[in-house]
Amino acid sequence: MQDKIVVGREEWCALAELKLPAIKARIDSGARTSALHAFNIHSFVKNDEDWVAFDIHPIQNNRRIIQHCKARLVGQRMVKSSSGQNEKRHVIKTPITMGTESWEIEITLTNRDTMGYRMLLGREAMKGRILVDPDGVMYHSHIADEQASSLYKTTRPAKGGLRIVLLASNPDLYSNRRIMEAGEIRGHEMIFVNVREAYMNISARRRAVHYREELVDEVDAVIPRLRPALTYYGCAVARQFQSGGAFCLNESYAIKRSRDKLLSLQMLADKGIEMPLTGFASSPENTRDLIKQVGGAPLVVKLLEGTQGVGVVLAETNKAAESVINAFKSLKANILVQEFIKEAQGSDIRCFVIDGKVVGSMMRTAAEGEFRANIHRGGTASAIKVTAEERKMAIASAKIMGLKVSGVDIIRSSSGPKVLEVNSSPGLEGIEAATGKDIASLMIAAIEKQVMGK
Ligand code: ADP
Ligand code: MG
Repeated sequence: MQDKIVVGREEWCALAELKLPAIKARIDSGARTSALHAFNIHSFVKNDEDWVAFDIHPIQNNRRIIQHCKARLVGQRMVKSSSGQNEKRHVIKTPITMGTESWEIEITLTNRDTMGYRMLLGREAMKGRILVDPDGVMYHSHIADEQASSLYKTTRPAKGGLRIVLLASNPDLYSNRRIMEAGEIRGHEMIFVNVREAYMNISARRRAVHYREELVDEVDAVIPRLRPALTYYGCAVARQFQSGGAFCLNESYAIKRSRDKLLSLQMLADKGIEMPLTGFASSPENTRDLIKQVGGAPLVVKLLEGTQGVGVVLAETNKAAESVINAFKSLKANILVQEFIKEAQGSDIRCFVIDGKVVGSMMRTAAEGEFRANIHRGGTASAIKVTAEERKMAIASAKIMGLKVSGVDIIRSSSGPKVLEVNSSPGLEGIEAATGKDIASLMIAAIEKQVMGK
């Protein structure tokens, strides 16, 4: 019988076969399964064996260090995560070293990084070798994070060198943080410009934007991520950058029209894109006929300028529909009326399209008692493989709208997929979590392709 080693609730370990010389693990005998927080996970076959490749950020809070790993795949396993969700994970087997001890463990790969730790060591992997002292930390080696970082190469892409402006409002928003970070990792100079604080002289010969008393010029590219309320001004600032020679990832005219649901749907319908039966009218006299046109209740009434599910209402009876429509009209709100796709059961599909490719897709499902699948309305997301028809539909819709980056929402009806809307500033948090893909990097890559021809 071997002596047990005493470990604290946090320890530095090495996973030599994965080329991870130092990774801080949370040791938790309350968890059964061990986990590594990985992304870009995909399996492949080599010499008739199943393998899995993945990337990991081995150092906590440092996304600049990326280690690419490959390992033999042992199998798949359903694991209940700390948030209580069931998730199917890849399982690999690899030797672990802690202090002077080494042994082989099974470890699952997940992209749900909720704890900050890059690795979790559960009781199965302890194999009677470990005694956990939950009050202690780092019995085996004290390494400072910076010291551990120096064991890895920081990813510095050969490309690099562009000046890229992120034109948005809140630098702390997940999507904005990710875009800044992805650009920096790829070697670009990233400048955050708050839409509200930007001002410009449109007649100057040297077209630039002023921001916090400084001139922001010689910009290679601009990524507008505009709140609906700032569409008008934000588009003007984006155009200013553009007239100074910057490439605009999503042109201002495309953003503007994507914000008008009626215009967007008209443009899509013109090109034969399927959508739920949709009607529009402004005078109250036509309300009944409008309801009839889309097949009667239940139906959906939408405010033309709404987002995130606000302003989307389900009317279950013709009477209710009439009241809702007339109420909106009396407020002079512009609305459209749409057949309710009941069979979708509160789910819709978000396709993230970059440069004519669906780079990730997820199914969003509405919370209990809700028909709107928006994440902001409590919807939950999971990765999904879309059909060839849905993929084609998403790509065509993005193209018609003239958007390089977009989130195309599709609903599955009994008569096939239908487009609900095309978003010009699709959020990254839901899609990156659901798919484990580095979507922010793909956005930067689209800029590189355009500006540097790579
Ligand atoms: P928003 O811009 O506010 O997100 P959407 O048109 O995308 O507005 O609608 C929000 C959500 O409501 C959709 O994601 C979908 O789940 C649901 N929904 C919208 N239109 C319909 C419809 N015609 N039938 C069934 N559900 C719908
Ligand atoms: Mg939507």
